[in-house]
Amino acid sequence: MADSLPTLLLAEHDDASLNPVTARALTAAKALGAPVHMLVVGENARAAAEAAAKLDGVAEVLLADAPAYAHRLAEPVAALGVALAKEYGAVVAPSTAVWKSVMPRIAALLDVMQVSDVIAVVAPDIFDRPIYAGNAIQRVRATDGKKVLTIRTASFAATGEATGASSAPIRAVEPAGTAAGNAARSSFVGEDIAASARPELTAARIIVSGGRAVGSAENFHAVIEPLADALGAAVGASRAAVDAGYAPNDWQVGQTGKVVAPDLYIALGISGAIQHLAGMKDSKVIVAVNKDEEAPIFQVADFGIVGDLFEVVPALKTEIAKAK
Ligand code: FAD
Repeated sequence: MADSLPTLLLAEHDDASLNPVTARALTAAKALGAPVHMLVVGENARAAAEAAAKLDGVAEVLLADAPAYAHRLAEPVAALGVALAKEYGAVVAPSTAVWKSVMPRIAALLDVMQVSDVIAVVAPDIFDRPIYAGNAIQRVRATDGKKVLTIRTASFAATGEATGASSAPIRAVEPAGTAAGNAARSSFVGEDIAASARPELTAARIIVSGGRAVGSAENFHAVIEPLADALGAAVGASRAAVDAGYAPNDWQVGQTGKVVAPDLYIALGISGAIQHLAGMKDSKVIVAVNKDEEAPIFQVADFGIVGDLFEVVPALKTEIAKAK
């Protein structure tokens, strides 16, 4: 019976280490109630597999290590996922750019329905997921024998490393379906990775975000980034700030940007449109600075300052410096 089969969790990693979202997706995978096997697919990815093997509740790590999996192109990785899926009752992955591209392919090739952006596992076949930019939560029952789920990792706490116990075994798996058929469909050309000393947005504990009111890229550098650096925070932005060229694309928070849930989110000159809230309203503490006391951001803020960000931010920085 499909229900008694183990769960296959697809790890987000960079070959050398696991992305923290993987440990959060593991919490969701474990909630399905079956043993969890973790697939680490990449090239020279043993270090990531070893990190996966240490996590509490991982029964086995499958390591698919081959040049065909460098850069985790969707076609060969989906072919592998489909080949492995026979042994599993559910295939689960974090909702990241890589897996958002791979998982629909796996679901389609298996001819099952994908449940996207799961925020709660109610039962092994019942899941909550946000719809309408997070304004409503839909509860769905997946009746397919095999479940294909992507996990909104901000909604789950991270699973830690197992204490005392030895690591889970790591089993090498042979490449599957990576022959000419898949290779012909896509090939890797290059990537432009943003280098930053700041924490990655989706993993950051603190995020300082700026909106249209910041006014220019220079002001982001001069006002927003120094506050972020004083707090050891990542920098985020509203879409209006990104569209205006004040901030790079990968800083965008929201429905069409990144979904974040840090311990502290500081929104500076952001009105709080629903599409922005969809990406940050699950943050544990929200601080908003806005000149307009009617701004919708104040409806979700735990602490609000009605004022000019160009006055408030320097004052905040002075207080932070004093506290250090
Ligand atoms: P504004 O709405 O212009 O707000 C600026 C705020 O700054 C105002 O509240 C104003 O009172 C305040 N202000 C002005 N001057 C100061 C000052 N000196 N000090 C303090 N406060 C000041 N948006 C996102 O952010 N992320 C998304 O992913 C996203 N996806 C979208 C998807 C779709 C399909 C659509 C239609 C829209 C999407 N948007 C998204 C856009 C969204 O609707 C808003 O337009 C956008 O979030 C507004 O950005 P903002 O708050 O920076 O700008």
